[in-house]
Amino acid sequence: MKRAVKPVVAVDVGGTKFIAAVVDGGGKMLSRVYCPTCAEQGPERVIKRLASTISQAVKESGAGMKSIGGISLAVAGIIDIKRGLITSAPNLPDWSNIRLGEILQDEFEVPAFLLNDGNAAALGEKRFGAGKGVDNLIYITVSTGIGGGLIINGELFNGTDGSAGEIGHMIVLADGPECNCGQHGCLEALASGTAIARLARERLGEGKQSILNEMVGGEIETLTAEHVTKAAKKQDTVALSVVCEAAYYLGIGLSNLVNLFNPQVIVIGGGVSAMGEMLLSPARKSMQEHAFKLPASTVRVVKSKLNPDAGILGAAAWAQQKQGGIK
Ligand SMILES: [Zn+2]
Repeated sequence: MKRAVKPVVAVDVGGTKFIAAVVDGGGKMLSRVYCPTCAEQGPERVIKRLASTISQAVKESGAGMKSIGGISLAVAGIIDIKRGLITSAPNLPDWSNIRLGEILQDEFEVPAFLLNDGNAAALGEKRFGAGKGVDNLIYITVSTGIGGGLIINGELFNGTDGSAGEIGHMIVLADGPECNCGQHGCLEALASGTAIARLARERLGEGKQSILNEMVGGEIETLTAEHVTKAAKKQDTVALSVVCEAAYYLGIGLSNLVNLFNPQVIVIGGGVSAMGEMLLSPARKSMQEHAFKLPASTVRVVKSKLNPDAGILGAAAWAQQKQGGIK
């Protein structure tokens, strides 16, 4: 008989808030607790609140700490999964030498794991979402930034250290706009929510007529990707052309992934994916134009099913499949 999977605590560690949830083996959340991150308070205080948020989630689930099989954290940043270490995270500066996995493992006396949020989301979609039953899957989150994860032959591919799957920093336009990472022309600099807002601001700055001007009351600097989405849905020409430009580069990114990995499914999640076919349709067209015909005809590019819970459910799946502590 198959051993029953114990419920685990999964935490989505975001820049503004943590979400801790107790998740059972079927991907059902038994509790869900929020807490502001307040990263500016420094690691020590943040870790204390993180621990109390975990305790609260366990308490609210009614499961009891003894029945918990592990703790798993999905964190935006470069994670050293072997040592349970955040090596660099945009939202958590000064955390580079903190063995968070070990700290939580000592505190709660259960195995604790860390993994990159995009990698976690890929595993979430594979286990519980749009990639159920799919062995070769790529997940891309398009939001403020662009992240992702790779499932190869049914397994999450973390790379040697755990830093694989940084799809947002694939360079799709040499000498393109500067990216947060310091390089130029990364996919994130051309197709993320931040890039979409920047493109729209540039067009308005050139004096183009658009309902975006009224939407932000003439204050162009306050314009966001959500404004662009709303305006594009109303067939605003400027907004539509901005979405098409972002989708074109997203499609180039997809074509590189399709040529490299020959995936069955590419799942697009993140806030910007709420645009749906408005973004996906031109992105698919651009992918078809740039990729080899065979893998491009096989792959399905679909919207996330778990958005915005892919990361937290994937973190849970990771802890469920990896028992026995940090190795
Ligand atoms: Zn970059």
